[in-house]
Amino acid sequence: MSFKMSITKQLLNIKSQLPEHIILVAVSKTKPIEDILEAYNAGQRVFGENKIQEMVEKHEQLPKDIQWHMIGHVQRNKVKYMAGFVSLIHGVDNFKLLKEINKQAEKHNRIIDCLFQLKIAEEDSKFGMTHEDIVAIINSEAFSQLKHIKVVGLMGMATFTDDEAQIKKEFEYLKSIFDILNSKELFNFKLDIVSMGMSGDYELAIECGSNMVRIGRNIFGARHYTN
Ligand SMILES: *Cc1c(COP(=O)(O)O)cnc(C)c1O
Repeated sequence: MSFKMSITKQLLNIKSQLPEHIILVAVSKTKPIEDILEAYNAGQRVFGENKIQEMVEKHEQLPKDIQWHMIGHVQRNKVKYMAGFVSLIHGVDNFKLLKEINKQAEKHNRIIDCLFQLKIAEEDSKFGMTHEDIVAIINSEAFSQLKHIKVVGLMGMATFTDDEAQIKKEFEYLKSIFDILNSKELFNFKLDIVSMGMSGDYELAIECGSNMVRIGRNIFGARHYTN
């Protein structure tokens, strides 16, 4: 017989441990509507998905006061499907993507909040930009034309490793770049959010200055991929 831990219990347990200023993104990717509703009924309103199609389907079926965060890698040709409702896009890692988000947001008469993904992991597989890439974008004339996006923070994913010192170094690096970029303020660029930390490393991330954690397994249990 399989035993299912209560989502409500796990969610409330995590929330009770988080300092008040930390925003919890409940990562519901691969999880069914019932699981999300359980978390919703326990008070959670911010959910993260990493596939646009899946987020669109869940958005259609669930209460409309949910704030949907796109935390995965975004393909430019799919931005249009989420532009009407997405509340924060975490993984912006190139200017062309930002321009497409701006274009689709304009069609919906919205300003879409975005995070720049900073590459902090050593693995090649993790997406993200360098500090220099970000500086080049925000100083460009083309960036100043984007009136339907606002860059409100940075996001990063640490190396997948047991080496805490390595992870800490990467989180501290992200925070240091945040502190540097934070001195700049434009109508479409004002950094507030430091999105780092997942089930395995969110406590460390918070120690290093995170104010938005993205937690999946610790709330919803292990994911079972069917494809
Ligand atoms: C899946 C995912 C998470 C959550 O991971 P857990 O280990 O389940 O907490 C956080 N961030 C991103 C970008 C993810 O893809």
